[in-house]
Amino acid sequence: RHKKKWAATRPKLSAIRLALQNFDINYSVQFDSLWPSIRISLLSEQKYGALFNNFSNIQQVTQELEHLNAVDFIWESQKVVQDLASTAAQQASEPAMLTGTLAVSAEPQLQPLPCLSTLISPNIKCYTFPKGDLSLFPPARPDTLGILGYYLLDAASVLPVLALNVQPGDLVLDLCAAPGGKTLALLQTGCCRELAANDISASRTGRLNRVLRSYVPQNICDILRITSWDGRKWRDLEANTYDRVLVDVPCTNDRHSVLEEDNNMFKNMRKGERQMLPMLQLELLVSAILSAKPGGEVVYSTCSLSQLQNEYVVERAVELLKIQYNIEVHVEDLSIFRRLFQGTFSFFPNCRLGELVLPHLTANFGPMYFCKLRRLE
Ligand code: SAM
Repeated sequence: RHKKKWAATRPKLSAIRLALQNFDINYSVQFDSLWPSIRISLLSEQKYGALFNNFSNIQQVTQELEHLNAVDFIWESQKVVQDLASTAAQQASEPAMLTGTLAVSAEPQLQPLPCLSTLISPNIKCYTFPKGDLSLFPPARPDTLGILGYYLLDAASVLPVLALNVQPGDLVLDLCAAPGGKTLALLQTGCCRELAANDISASRTGRLNRVLRSYVPQNICDILRITSWDGRKWRDLEANTYDRVLVDVPCTNDRHSVLEEDNNMFKNMRKGERQMLPMLQLELLVSAILSAKPGGEVVYSTCSLSQLQNEYVVERAVELLKIQYNIEVHVEDLSIFRRLFQGTFSFFPNCRLGELVLPHLTANFGPMYFCKLRRLE
């Protein structure tokens, strides 16, 4: 009888096809009717933001970006704060409607927003084009000292740095730092007393070094310490030390996985690595929390939509720290980010913990998940 030989001759699925298959199965359940829109956005042209370099010629770069009709989305969010404050003030001054003996206000009362500077890391500016505007930024040009005026990145990747709420004099650790977009954003705050930027990959820390040299003057680099250690071991090297820790972990990098074969986490030979990702992410997050001082704050972030790499990792880390170390960790509410930045990003409304920026055709940033944890005393 003729024996089928299809198993040997069937062409192997490309990493991109495998990623899409995997996402179709998992994300259609996780996101239900939102998945088709997220899927097409992931496959379409991504939008960028221009992270403003405060160490360059500020006037010249501001003029250049405003000439392009780009706007600083962080500055724009101040208007949201002002609008909400004036609505709340108006509501307070309007006479309540009297129904019987009960005084009922005409509108539901809005919770007032606290001052922006107590919520987010200060001094960071990131320009984007408005929703629906698909213009592109030209490459940044060096000023007379050779410093570049802005750094192009997914604007959603500034959100974890804003959420870290770095304050003047803080000792800060960026545990998985390369190639350095978020490290550069942390430096823009002008708040770090010391900034430790680490990445396990020596070649990628080399790239981080080159990025920083193109954007930051030498005297600012003096507060920086760049290392290539395994972040999982940091807890043994410098426990209970940092005011703020950013842990932007390796993940399935969903947008990259559906677009590029190169360095794709869905390659057959990376199956084991992919399956171990949630474990690696958990170990990195636990290490980050143990490196923070009691009272210190940690932001965990990924560029994946996967609950297994996002909320589940956060939940397991909180449990593990309680059981193994008797350390209490509080997951902070970041829903205010949705109110502040909804004009720029499309947020998933149903995250159990943390916030998730969803790719959307009119605002094609992300995916970017970020969650803030406070180590209690
Ligand atoms: N934060 C970076 C930025 O904004 O440019 C991107 C970080 S990328 C998502 C994740 C990084 O984690 C990779 O550069 C990878 O080399 C690094 N990494 C992977 N395993 C690590 C480990 N065990 N310890 C420290 N870094 C690790």
